[in-house]
Amino acid sequence: MKSTARVVVIGGGVVGVSTLYHLAKMGWSDCVLIERKELTSGSTWHAAGLLPLFNLSYSVGKLHQYSVDFYPSLEAETELNVGFSNVSNIRLARTEDRFDEYKYYAGVAKTIGVEVNFLTPDQVREVWPLCNVDGIIGAIQHPADGYIQPADLTQALAKGARQRGATIERNTTVTGITQKTNGEWVVHTDKGDITCEHVVSATGNFARQTGRMVGLDIPVIPVEHQYIVTDQHPAIMERRAQGLPEMGVLRESDSSWYMREEAGGLLLGPYEIGAPACYVDGPAANSEYELFPDALDRLMPYIETAIARVPAFGEVGVKKVYNGAIAYTPDGSPIVGPAWDKKNFWLNEGHSFGITAAGGAGWQLAHWIVEGEPSVDMMGVDPRRFGEYAGEGYLIEKNEEAYAKVFTVHYPDEEREGARPLRQTPCYSRMKDLGAVFGSVFGWERPNWFAPQGYELLDADLDRPDVLLNHNHPDVEGEPIREKWSFRRSNYFEHVGNECRHVTEKVGLQDMSAFAKCRISGPGAEAWLDGLLTNAVPKKVGRVTLSYLLTSKGGVRAEFTVYKTAPQEYYLVSAGAYERHDQDYLKKALPTDGSVTFERLTTSMGVLVLAGPRSRDVLAKLTRADLSNEAFPWLTGQRISIGAAPVDALRVNFIGELGWEIHHPIEMQNYIFDKLMEAGAEFDIKPFGIKAMTLMALEKSYKLIPRELSIEYNAYESGLDRFISLKKPGFHGKDGLLAGKEAGLNWQLVTMEVMDVTDADARGSEAIYLGDELVGRATSGGYGWRVGKSLALAMLRPEHAAVGTELEISILGRGHKAVVIPDSPFDPENNALRA
Ligand SMILES: Cc1cc2nc3c(=O)[nH]c(=O)nc-3n(C[C@H](O)[C@H](O)[C@H](O)COP(=O)(O)OP(=O)(O)OC[C@H]3O[C@@H](n4cnc5c(N)ncnc54)[C@H](O)[C@@H]3O)c2cc1C
Repeated sequence: MKSTARVVVIGGGVVGVSTLYHLAKMGWSDCVLIERKELTSGSTWHAAGLLPLFNLSYSVGKLHQYSVDFYPSLEAETELNVGFSNVSNIRLARTEDRFDEYKYYAGVAKTIGVEVNFLTPDQVREVWPLCNVDGIIGAIQHPADGYIQPADLTQALAKGARQRGATIERNTTVTGITQKTNGEWVVHTDKGDITCEHVVSATGNFARQTGRMVGLDIPVIPVEHQYIVTDQHPAIMERRAQGLPEMGVLRESDSSWYMREEAGGLLLGPYEIGAPACYVDGPAANSEYELFPDALDRLMPYIETAIARVPAFGEVGVKKVYNGAIAYTPDGSPIVGPAWDKKNFWLNEGHSFGITAAGGAGWQLAHWIVEGEPSVDMMGVDPRRFGEYAGEGYLIEKNEEAYAKVFTVHYPDEEREGARPLRQTPCYSRMKDLGAVFGSVFGWERPNWFAPQGYELLDADLDRPDVLLNHNHPDVEGEPIREKWSFRRSNYFEHVGNECRHVTEKVGLQDMSAFAKCRISGPGAEAWLDGLLTNAVPKKVGRVTLSYLLTSKGGVRAEFTVYKTAPQEYYLVSAGAYERHDQDYLKKALPTDGSVTFERLTTSMGVLVLAGPRSRDVLAKLTRADLSNEAFPWLTGQRISIGAAPVDALRVNFIGELGWEIHHPIEMQNYIFDKLMEAGAEFDIKPFGIKAMTLMALEKSYKLIPRELSIEYNAYESGLDRFISLKKPGFHGKDGLLAGKEAGLNWQLVTMEVMDVTDADARGSEAIYLGDELVGRATSGGYGWRVGKSLALAMLRPEHAAVGTELEISILGRGHKAVVIPDSPFDPENNALRA
């Protein structure tokens, strides 16, 4: 065995082998894969091999699309048959909400470039004559979809990797991993050590054991997953005898199962509610080709609906039940990218659709390792989208939930109930008493909107569909149901509107403590930040700027509010959801000479946002500080007292009104909260939530990661010109940014007014057309209450981005006229902000 390599990939399942193949394909042939047993002996060998293209996540959708395009080409390259059956895939809809989901997805698919057809029930029967279409209102079909033989695919990838010079060591176990002081890794195996530059962990159900070798708590715990294969059915055998095509993959989403032909019989794979987590402490050391005893009783409700839909399924005996471990993460998407806190340690783990994702995940991870960046926006699968809050109990609960909800309607406003309320800010109960309906971000509870006292939805309001997955609202024991999820305007629409109106007319209070916060200090802090971020770092104490961390190609990786708190000291604020992601980039970029210190402040500092025309009046009652415009202008911050509490008040906010973000020691939050509510009573202060904030931000054309800002868009395409300082000597990504501009920008971010909207605003991902030509996609959307218009932010081809251009946006399958309007439709002069 080699003693050195550029990359060591651990794990010889389809994901590890695909990573090795793609590294070799990019020219890195000095790579070794280590597999403890035989290739595919983990989860890969028993997978059903389906390649579903359907996915509402942009990142995952792109990975799946790549795989389905790439796998057939492997055969030509390696002369090994990968067993790809391009039989297509039909997803049935029994409810209007499900059909809305498909219509929404069609927009995502269109903008990614995945072909989707809509079918009538009669057309479903033409393709699937054994399917009873009673109760079906329609379906979508992916013609490019199908299934593959997972073991054959892995062998072909392995041959392709070897042909390009990579090495595979089977029957070799990684027993430990250490890092040398020079940054090199040493992978210890039972057959010797390998010193390398990079390590990739692709160990499937062993992910947590591998993570432990380097001190990483990888948020992957598998769940039991079963499928049933039947004996041959005469009708299917007859079709075969007649040379008819396979009927393809059938998905009855509302009953949570898939079905396809298998060797003249049928294969049924249900996603059960109640499937237990497994291998919590990892598989045993000798685990190989392992299955669990079947648990057919758990599958009975699904089997019954399957027989009702495909009676032939009930007419033949069960040949075999497979019950295997399927790796899961709390949101069901895999973990692909760099490990936090460890340089050159990479994760390709947590794959629940690993046969489908392996091609794309290997491709993008290889890009990331070789070129320093992926070429696709990978935020949806980035390993750093979870934090240290995701402990074992959280993972068990959330991963079981993610599995149970594979087939539920993925409402854009869905808030899952599992493992909540985990992270509560001190004012959580106060907000709750005021009617807060919470959402969860990075484990934190955040008020989404506020329901009137005693507000509750009744069963009739919920209109629960009669399907196995009649899931359209939160279900928390002891809690009233106050919202119904929808792709359209839902019951809370008016209430959110009232919050927007109230803040713009009077004064509102918001808890934004989930923001990620850190302190950067030391003699080198200013120069280091200046060399890293796009905007000029504030030189005067009390100045606040917005600044961006770019990729080397000039795409946007992170956004920071930078506030100079003292000489050689900066306070940085970024999105709560990306705390680990954003801070990991900062920490990994720190100079090694100790001249700059990083200190995480997220859990020690709370943030209350006081905003609206009367906010100055409220604050003035509680502080001696001069709050006048002259003494305390927009984009500045000051250390002031609110009553007895020392706080940093920053005159910034995300809604475009007069206001302050009040950053405070978190243990003083309730003291400050009570003071503000007491002082605000005479001005009719009321709380507001994230939904109101997001709509008000939209009216200001404010941009969000990963919507308008992404590594796939040059920062100029996202319209960040005024936050980019070309005067300073340089910043990370400047060369790539300018080269991109020089080569010609492909996109331009615009604000659009959407006409004739009655019940469904744009949300992001809708396709935008000029006639039949696809010219862009919406990135955000909603109703702007202050301007009284349905709005969208969109990335358009620059030649169609001039103000006044009329285009068509497709929202849930309906075309609406959409007109490019000037940015910041609300208060374009920023008079309210600067008041
Ligand atoms: C019943 C069932 C049906 C499924 N059907 C589908 C489907 O239809 N479509 C789909 O896309 N997905 C399906 N899946 C999921 C799919 O099987 C997995 O996502 C995929 O196989 C994951 O591949 P992997 O390479 O990540 O993991 P694995 O295949 O588990 O490979 C990990 C490898 O790492 C090795 N390893 C671990 N630790 C070490 C170590 N210390 N040293 C050396 N080697 C080590 C293991 O031996 C193992 O071979 C199904 C899963 C189940 C359980």
